[in-house]
Amino acid sequence: MNKKDIEQYIDANAKRITDVSDAIWDYAELAFHETRSAAELQRVLREEGFEVHTNLAGIPTAFEGVYGSGKPVVAILGEFDALAGLSQEAGVMEEQPVITGGNGHGCGHNLFGGGSLGAAMGAKKYLEENGLKGTLKFIGTPAEEGGGGKTFMARDGVFDDVDIAICWHPSDTFKIWSFKLLANVQVTFKFKGIPAHAGSRPHLGRSALDALELTNMGIQFLREHVTPDIRMHYAILDAGGTAPNVVQARASERVLLRAENADDLTPLLERVTNVARGAALMTDTQLEVEFNTGNSNIILNDTVALQLEKNMDEVPLPTYTDEEWAYAKEFKEKAIGTGFDSLKAIEANGDPKVNAIIEQGRNHVIHDFYLPYSPMKNALPGSSDVGDVSWVCPTAQVSGACQIATTGSHTWQAVSQGKGSIAHKGMLFVAKVMGRAAVDFFEDPTLVEQAWKEHRKNLGGRTYVCPIPKGVNPVK
Ligand SMILES: [Zn+2]
Repeated sequence: MNKKDIEQYIDANAKRITDVSDAIWDYAELAFHETRSAAELQRVLREEGFEVHTNLAGIPTAFEGVYGSGKPVVAILGEFDALAGLSQEAGVMEEQPVITGGNGHGCGHNLFGGGSLGAAMGAKKYLEENGLKGTLKFIGTPAEEGGGGKTFMARDGVFDDVDIAICWHPSDTFKIWSFKLLANVQVTFKFKGIPAHAGSRPHLGRSALDALELTNMGIQFLREHVTPDIRMHYAILDAGGTAPNVVQARASERVLLRAENADDLTPLLERVTNVARGAALMTDTQLEVEFNTGNSNIILNDTVALQLEKNMDEVPLPTYTDEEWAYAKEFKEKAIGTGFDSLKAIEANGDPKVNAIIEQGRNHVIHDFYLPYSPMKNALPGSSDVGDVSWVCPTAQVSGACQIATTGSHTWQAVSQGKGSIAHKGMLFVAKVMGRAAVDFFEDPTLVEQAWKEHRKNLGGRTYVCPIPKGVNPVK
């Protein structure tokens, strides 16, 4: 079997792979509740001869499919969780929920799971037919959206034996992932006061809502005195009730903090918690701090990224029919407009080779080109739990054009496109690239050595410290 046969195997199984992706789209299950989605992926892995282990790190929907034994251990990661409130009919050009208030795959994790499955299937076939030694894993990682599934899994050692990790994410552009992302932590502040009649006996009351408001005010003032990479967000979970003539005895909010380096989050969290402590002191209320989740920043690995790029060079990009171009054009005009220009941040990095490609393809309604690896100077102000994997082992990612140009993620427009032919084509292309790249690490052990040499250099003597303390359980 040669590497072109990996592509053929994926093509021959295209329907099985897209069916899995479409089924996960239909299930649209939220973080840590992806029971049917995980089962669907596991079913096909078993059919393909992988040994499936479930309940990794004590998380019922975290699992792995394992083929082979010994070194190297190459892992292809797959996500499959949906987002709340994004239920949407597939293929339509207007906002139209399937279930009002229901869930939807606004981040394309149905494709993420399906594409990674396809890659694992193709790579396994190649290893088997060519008698190559080593272990190939498909690792099913739940709860990327706000749950930090991979972070909990990293904390509990799931990636400790992994030599190389590969994954991808659907977007509107084919590229080798070149962005750093921010580390984050999320905590819940719960204030407890004393209820009282707000009119006749306010002096007996102690307001938890006051404490919460003072905390937020303190955080606003704190913004001036942090480095520019810091992001501080909050959401009020409970304002204490709807009666203004009662002194609110309980109030709670969730606070999410981001920083370019995971190391900076501990002191930042302490400062923010001090603001909440101060608010509790001012209002004579009690504060309880509950740690929710967190993830580390992404460490890029050039060796693994360039191996993905090499394979992206060799796999033919998808071609689109006249109908698909016409559909994309109409969808963009009717449902997206100018949208979110994902190419802008890349262009700003100023790599002439990349910018020449962008220049040529900028107005294509489907980005039918790919951007080579070109590490970004600045971090994107988002976060991903892939960050934690990238601290534990050399990790690289592909981005796959599964959406019409300028579609923003976490939108109904993205959900609507998640089962379409453009999405499927993007997913299968990425599956081929990742499947081919995975086998390179089995064929050439020096690549693994090189990736680890670089990984150690990137860490510069630091060791991975999980941002989620021991004893904290996932928020479900
Ligand atoms: Zn996502």
